Amino acid sequence: MFCNQCEQTAQGTGCSKIGACGKKPEVSDLQDLLMHGVQGLALYAAEGRRRGIVDEEADLFTMQAIFSTLTNVDFDPARFQELIKRAVELRESVKAKVAAAGGRTDFDQAAATFTPADSIDGLAAQGAALDYIRTLDEDENIRSLKQTLLYGLKGIAAYADHAWILGQKDDAIAGFLYEALVALMTTGLSVDACVAVALKAGEINLLAMKILDAGNTGTYGHP
Ligand code: SF4
Repeated sequence: MFCNQCEQTAQGTGCSKIGACGKKPEVSDLQDLLMHGVQGLALYAAEGRRRGIVDEEADLFTMQAIFSTLTNVDFDPARFQELIKRAVELRESVKAKVAAAGGRTDFDQAAATFTPADSIDGLAAQGAALDYIRTLDEDENIRSLKQTLLYGLKGIAAYADHAWILGQKDDAIAGFLYEALVALMTTGLSVDACVAVALKAGEINLLAMKILDAGNTGTYGHP
């Protein structure tokens, strides 16, 4: 496990044995594997959107899945097993739609073809083997910017999922999530390119907060 996504992180650098929040290594590794699975889905969903294919089931799932990996939102290994399996099912479903539309499906990233193990122990081992945070990029500046983006995506997903529950959605949010998830896997990005995606995440986060506010006030009234 290596998790450094919140201010409680051990010694200010990262929880690597057990989370200061109580997160167990197994859960941290499953969270990393779920992000890997969602990134595989994003490759095809982003290509699908370039072909006019919008899959709302995949959009909502992506928000829910990313949200579940935020800090201490969900510590249930069985739930992560379900989500990882579903990420791969949706990846294959969207891939088939993209192929039928003549879109690109020959992605060579590991996430494009990853097969989940059939036990929680096996999945956790797959997640640990990713060394997810440390392998975001070889360059420490780019790795740092990618982490900034990654944690921004978790916040956007939380707001957007809550807004969706209250009947509010904006297609630009899922579209951005897919593009950003692909950017996390892209090698050779410049600092400027990473900063641009991170700034876009800030813009999309404001949009997510705006629709969540509309959902809250529309449902419960103005306080
Ligand atoms: S979310 Fe938990 S495991 Fe992750 S950095 Fe914070 S305290 Fe550590």
